[in-house]
Amino acid sequence: MLDPQVEARSWDEQLALDDEAYRAQIAYLLVRSAFYREKLALHSAGDAGGLADLARLPMTEKPELKATATEDNPVGAHLCVDRSDIVRIYSTSGTTGTPSYIPLTARDLDDWVTGSARSYAASGISKGQRIVSTYNAGPFVAGAALASFDRIGLCHIPVGTGNTERLVGAIELLRPEAAVLTPSYAGHLLEWTASRGLDLQGSSVERVLVAGEPGGGEPALRTRLEEGWGARVTEAMGIGDIGVSLWGECEEQDGMHLGARGFVFPELIDPATGESISMEDGASGELVLTHLRHQAAPLLRFRTRDHVNVRTSPCACGRTGPRVRCVGRTDDMLIVRGVNVFPSAVRDVVGAFAPRVSGHIRVRPAAAGVKQAPPLPVAVELAEGVAADPDLAETIRERIRAVLVVSTRVELVPWGSLARSEYKGELVERG
Ligand SMILES: [Zn+2]
Repeated sequence: MLDPQVEARSWDEQLALDDEAYRAQIAYLLVRSAFYREKLALHSAGDAGGLADLARLPMTEKPELKATATEDNPVGAHLCVDRSDIVRIYSTSGTTGTPSYIPLTARDLDDWVTGSARSYAASGISKGQRIVSTYNAGPFVAGAALASFDRIGLCHIPVGTGNTERLVGAIELLRPEAAVLTPSYAGHLLEWTASRGLDLQGSSVERVLVAGEPGGGEPALRTRLEEGWGARVTEAMGIGDIGVSLWGECEEQDGMHLGARGFVFPELIDPATGESISMEDGASGELVLTHLRHQAAPLLRFRTRDHVNVRTSPCACGRTGPRVRCVGRTDDMLIVRGVNVFPSAVRDVVGAFAPRVSGHIRVRPAAAGVKQAPPLPVAVELAEGVAADPDLAETIRERIRAVLVVSTRVELVPWGSLARSEYKGELVERG
């Protein structure tokens, strides 16, 4: 552990410290944040109460922040500091129009790097080891994650995205102990090297750290990556507006610990109703995050749209507090005759049919929107050299029905027909 006195602190003690920090954060927001002054108009700092009362406050959604951006204040009305206090401005990739800007003060940035360093160090990678990274940090918050490698004391070998030959060359020649990449790219590399007769399994890489999208925790995908790379796979997760790599998985591989503890407070909600769900062992819901000591543009009850499962049983690594496993984006969730279906869960069920299938799938909803009538169309890609077989399609269909309680129409498609990604992959394809 990088900070044993913090990471192994009893969770009750952490909550008491968080409550104190939160009360100060609310008071700060009511003075400094035009956005929250308006949103919390009925509350004074005293009224808002502590963390135990957090669920009574309204949630924050990304579009409402963006709607307050103006030419004079392109960040938005949640900006709380003077221009001269800002040391970094990241932006999100944003699917349409201008990006969202994420300003940080020097302390905010330091908190981000501290939390990210704890999250990545949880994987077991340690000072003096080499890590090859594949993120094009550019304008995006991933840049702060890369700084956390310096904090851990690693030798960082940045290679960037979109140059697989350079990456494989760096692994062969510089012999890093770890590689950090998206799960989609980690899978793509297995196919890329196999098709060229190269052997990743025998490479120097002992740890594959995946982040940037859900999937690294799905059992079938993880098994494929661990076998192919001959390495242990752990995942990390953050959300641009709140912080980079907030969560990181330890060597027990049973969900991600909150590396950003003390900086960020996690809650769960039912994405359909917005109702609060208790963070108990086995609970499932959308993650909602609140800054506890943020300065530049702090957010309260921010909806991440990440859907997670929670574990609270003690972890053998000694880190305390709830752990999460991301099962997908709330936005990817489909409801088929009243049953919630995550495409990642479909991929996990299908992935167990390896080596007959490649592990790549696409869910192709017939209707617009979330609600779908059964059967749900799913394209399942066959492994290289495997011919389509109606019995296999039927067996997969039955297994999905048994595990996920959803009726599908499985179409087997030839190897290589579903697009691969060197960054983030898509599991849903809308016509
Ligand atoms: Zn652990």
